[in-house]
Amino acid sequence: MKMADTVLTLNAGSSSLKFALFDAHGGEDAGALLRGLVEEIPTRPRFSASSADCAPLAEDEWPDAANDFPAIIDRLIGWIEAHRGDNRLIAVGHRVVHGGPAHAKPERVTPALLGELDRLTRLAPLHEPQNIAPIRALAESRPELPQVACFDTAFHRTMPAVATRFALPRNFETEGVRRYGFHGLSYEYIAGHLALTAPGLASGRVIVAHLGNGASLCALKAGKSIDTTMGFSTLDGLVMGSRPGTLDPGVILHLLKERGMTADEVENLLYRRSGLLGISGGISSDMRVLLGSDDPRAAEAIELFTYRIAREVGALASSLGGLDGFVFTAGIGEHSAMVRALVCARLGWLGVELDKDANERGDGLISAVQSPAEVRVIATDEERMMASHVLRTVRAGHPA
Ligand code: AMP
Repeated sequence: MKMADTVLTLNAGSSSLKFALFDAHGGEDAGALLRGLVEEIPTRPRFSASSADCAPLAEDEWPDAANDFPAIIDRLIGWIEAHRGDNRLIAVGHRVVHGGPAHAKPERVTPALLGELDRLTRLAPLHEPQNIAPIRALAESRPELPQVACFDTAFHRTMPAVATRFALPRNFETEGVRRYGFHGLSYEYIAGHLALTAPGLASGRVIVAHLGNGASLCALKAGKSIDTTMGFSTLDGLVMGSRPGTLDPGVILHLLKERGMTADEVENLLYRRSGLLGISGGISSDMRVLLGSDDPRAAEAIELFTYRIAREVGALASSLGGLDGFVFTAGIGEHSAMVRALVCARLGWLGVELDKDANERGDGLISAVQSPAEVRVIATDEERMMASHVLRTVRAGHPA
């Protein structure tokens, strides 16, 4: 194994931690050296890693590190250093869901930034604490190791003011109650990929559909975000695995006042029990399971999922003033020809026409030759995007 400098990316979720390791000199489009996951962090942490070509490298159980982020980070870095013998870890990047109104680009972690991230948890109470835990653990155990926070909201800072506003009294906006948008690392990766592979389209009006367990759309004008379906929180917009997307606020009032639900119960309903899971009658939040089910409620969940995507595409096409191209990405967008076909069948009026065979293959250009709007499938890579940000930020010599 030859000596190399490496960059680690960490993406901490509610019960899991995804990681990937990149060669610092591998170039902007080089794939990860290895990727992995620590699952079931609160109860029985399980670690697994695989190589660049998806071959399993290691699996382990870390029961004594349950609910102990510092211990998990310590073991993870220890494993990486032992596995990559001669390599030197030069920096770590973290996905941070919320950057608030001030952060338009990735930033080197400093004590001041950590304090600010703590204050931002009031805007994303479910996600931000999990993002911050590994940053704090590393700041204590490896203070010399540069860390970079990559904000999922940052890419949407180019949205015009009108796309960020709620029609509430103005003081709420001053307090931070506005639309931010999320999945920014994914959209930034796709915008960069388009600029390299389809520069003509990249300079036009493109809607990107990030359809994973979380789902949103982004309207790109010449590669910049001008509107998106997620807003103040990751609840807004499309139907998701277990979140409802756009909901009449009167429903929330009803749940609180007439049903007597507590705020915590409503939160649990909106984040964990709704979306595909709720509308399918509890069959699954997982699109693969629903596509394989012959229960009519599974079909209705898929129908609502695709109907609402098409409806929001109409809204974003209006923000863009037309549509030159459409990109599918993330788990469902990259892998389900059926969902892509159902969505595109509703978009004929916008000039979208699929090539059936190309859609089945599901890679690159999938629209018919005569289709006025191009349709593409592009595999997103938020980790690769983070690694690029880390290197640029560290090399730009931001003050530690
Ligand atoms: P992500 O959050 O990007 O990892 O995407 C997760 C979603 O992608 C889940 O709903 C999966 O069921 C879905 N997914 C992954 N592979 C497939 C597939 N081959 N067909 C349909 N859905 C898939």
